[in-house]
Amino acid sequence: MRSIDDIEVSGQRVLVLSDLNVPLDKSGSGAITDDGRIRASLPVIRKLADRGARVIVMAHLGRPKGEDFAERAAGGPSLQVVAERLAELLGQPVAFASDLVGPSATSTVAGMADGDVALLENVRFEPAETSKDDSERVRLAQDLAKLGDAYVGDGFGVVHRKQASVYDLPQLLPHAAGDLVVAEVAVLQRLTVDPARPYVVVLGGSKVSDKLGVIGNLLGLADRVLIGGGMVFTFLAALGHEVGTSLLEADHIDSCKAVLAQAAERGVELVLPTDIVVAPRFAADAPPTVVAADAIPEGHMGLDIGPASRELFASKLADAKTVFWNGPMGVFEFPAFAAGTRAVAEALTKVDGLTVVGGGDSAAAVRSFGLDESSFGHISTGGGASLEYLEGKTLPGLTALDA
Ligand code: ADP
Ligand code: MG
Repeated sequence: MRSIDDIEVSGQRVLVLSDLNVPLDKSGSGAITDDGRIRASLPVIRKLADRGARVIVMAHLGRPKGEDFAERAAGGPSLQVVAERLAELLGQPVAFASDLVGPSATSTVAGMADGDVALLENVRFEPAETSKDDSERVRLAQDLAKLGDAYVGDGFGVVHRKQASVYDLPQLLPHAAGDLVVAEVAVLQRLTVDPARPYVVVLGGSKVSDKLGVIGNLLGLADRVLIGGGMVFTFLAALGHEVGTSLLEADHIDSCKAVLAQAAERGVELVLPTDIVVAPRFAADAPPTVVAADAIPEGHMGLDIGPASRELFASKLADAKTVFWNGPMGVFEFPAFAAGTRAVAEALTKVDGLTVVGGGDSAAAVRSFGLDESSFGHISTGGGASLEYLEGKTLPGLTALDA
């Protein structure tokens, strides 16, 4: 994989795919609630601009809906707020084009000087971006390619997507991997090739169905797997426990049983919480109660791991030499149910070894606790992408950059 140091960029129009998919305030203001991904994207944009490139950033935001560009652009979300924040953080103006391959993009790019930075509108406003039809994607990629002389893939969070800006476009232009992608791949290699032991994996988050693939593969690599978050209730159900109104994916109970059996067979220690913080409803002000993990009362939902489990998980992390953590232990967005996630985050800061945090929400949790990001080995910007890498899949965006 070529890095940006290996390509000529001075005076060139460089299309950079970044991961700027930041969370927005859902209560109406549309403000950015966590700008971590924008901050993470700054170094490559800055480096290219400093080297005299005309930096044209592309990115997606949220899940636009609609038949065509016009409908999607009307529905949003627009990257305009991101352009403003990017300009603030870069300390230089960022020209914003209100389309991708239309008149605004063309004139914005034509108006750039060496060292300038521009951002194109949400790439997913073009339905072809995510089309399953190869020729539709290639057509969009060809139009995008007209805007640039070179391509830099720095959006690790999307490298697992076979999309026009991720997979088809780099094949049409001289290309290189951005520093974020290079760094992520290096870390993921340390998690998969001869990791230092004990190797402990902590998994949480909402959906067990998202994580079954990765658990399967990690059982062949890790010494210990700790499970919390919403996904734990399908495991508890697999053990025959009642889970009240907790998140449950009933059609995955059998897969969880299979994981439990596989772990036992392979000698991997699978650790489940022994106590759970439950509440009668999903709300920030719902009254929390601690119950045993095998005694969740009817009409109650588990929203965090309990205090004994916090200690248990911390003790299982204490001697680790390699840790991969993906997915919060509870609904950390509600302070009353954040202690489990905080305990795992704090335990990671004390580990004497490589600690990797993967997943957008997990990374946001670490930041929301005010923990020093430098006390973690690596905070990944790409949740799904790192999971698919750890599942052992080939990632289209990496394949395209490798060529
Ligand atoms: P990541 O983005 O780090 O990969 P996920 O997207 O898989 O993590 O899951 C994050 C979400 O899981 C958070 O919004 C959190 O509120 C939710 N979650 C964690 N525990 C529970 C639970 N017990 N019940 C419901 N949701 C939960
Ligand atoms: Mg998430």
